[in-house]
Amino acid sequence: MCDFVSATPPESVHVLHDPSSGLDGVIVLHSTRRGPAAGGCRLWTYSSGAEAAKDAVRLAEGMAYKNALADLPLGGGKAVLRLPPTPFDRRLLFKAFGREVARLGGNYVTAEDVGTTVSDMQAASETCRHVAGLGAPQGRPGGDPSPWTALGVFLSIQESARRKLGADLKGMTVAVQGLGNVGSHLCGLLHEAGVKLVVAEPRSHVAAKVACRYEATLVGLDAILDTKCEIFAPCALGAVIDERAVMRLRTRVVCGGANNVLATDEDGDRLADRDVLYAPDYIVNAGGIINVAAEYIGWKIEEAEARVRQTGRRLADLLDFAERKGLAPHRAANGLARQRIGAPQMGRMMEVV
Ligand code: NAD
Repeated sequence: MCDFVSATPPESVHVLHDPSSGLDGVIVLHSTRRGPAAGGCRLWTYSSGAEAAKDAVRLAEGMAYKNALADLPLGGGKAVLRLPPTPFDRRLLFKAFGREVARLGGNYVTAEDVGTTVSDMQAASETCRHVAGLGAPQGRPGGDPSPWTALGVFLSIQESARRKLGADLKGMTVAVQGLGNVGSHLCGLLHEAGVKLVVAEPRSHVAAKVACRYEATLVGLDAILDTKCEIFAPCALGAVIDERAVMRLRTRVVCGGANNVLATDEDGDRLADRDVLYAPDYIVNAGGIINVAAEYIGWKIEEAEARVRQTGRRLADLLDFAERKGLAPHRAANGLARQRIGAPQMGRMMEVV
């Protein structure tokens, strides 16, 4: 077995408090060793500042792992803002947020996340230049990251099918949970590849549209977990794979776009014990942050696309490594990410290994 360094605490935590705009939150820099800490800004309801800070710490660490495993010259960070309880001026709030990001002198780069939009980031960019997700000028990276995320997930599904089932995707059944930005793009790619789709989505008009367009079978929100399929692709919520779900799944592979798919690392072990291949989310869903990084760093769209298209190879490298070390894939991914965050040099995964 491999002996990895343990998870590290964040480098710094910055409390944000500006009563005049309603800004109340925290920026957490998990690591800046590989480059500026990049990660989106979440605006959400939290019962306390401590709860918001706890979420930010967890999310910042996740971004550091994802950026490191995607070979990006970026560290990981996250901003979490508490949704004001009374009506507020969004532009004022995000301009105040931008000032706070600017105070970090480029050590943190922000973008959209749950609850924030392109116009929020545009407001933040009025007071700060370390902002991405501002919309894509013609022929440049940026804009909606979801198609890029979906492409990386698709390539990971292809790689997982090849390894676990020794076959091309054509004719296989993939169960997709959630038909939002990522899930619906993914269905398009899978349909083109000749996959039979089974889908679940609470917004009935969206579900009906995707089912009709891609000849998918629609099932209930709970029933998707029991669907007999070769691949289960969670593209909605985090923590969908818990102890109970592991026992219900009738699949050979779990590979989807959602963040934090495993409720706990032990649930990943349970999947491995049941001989289900889990493709770690940090690797699989990095297409969006690659697009954001390209926008911020100034890469050409061709370079961004080439990096997203390497997602399948990155997954293959990780799975090879996990096999060699006798580790479940999620444990191998966590360990490698921690190792890379500690390594100041950029390098391909196999060199680090
Ligand atoms: P989204 O909000 O557009 O889509 C989520 C979808 O899941 C919605 O259509 C929602 O109705 C549906 N949903 C909610 N509860 C459900 C349930 N119980 N069963 C089935 N469907 C349910 O979000 P998105 O941008 O498509 O992101 C999806 C996931 O991927 C999230 O976990 C997100 O954090 C992750 N992710 C997204 C990106 C990106 O580029 N958008 C990048 C990395 C990770």
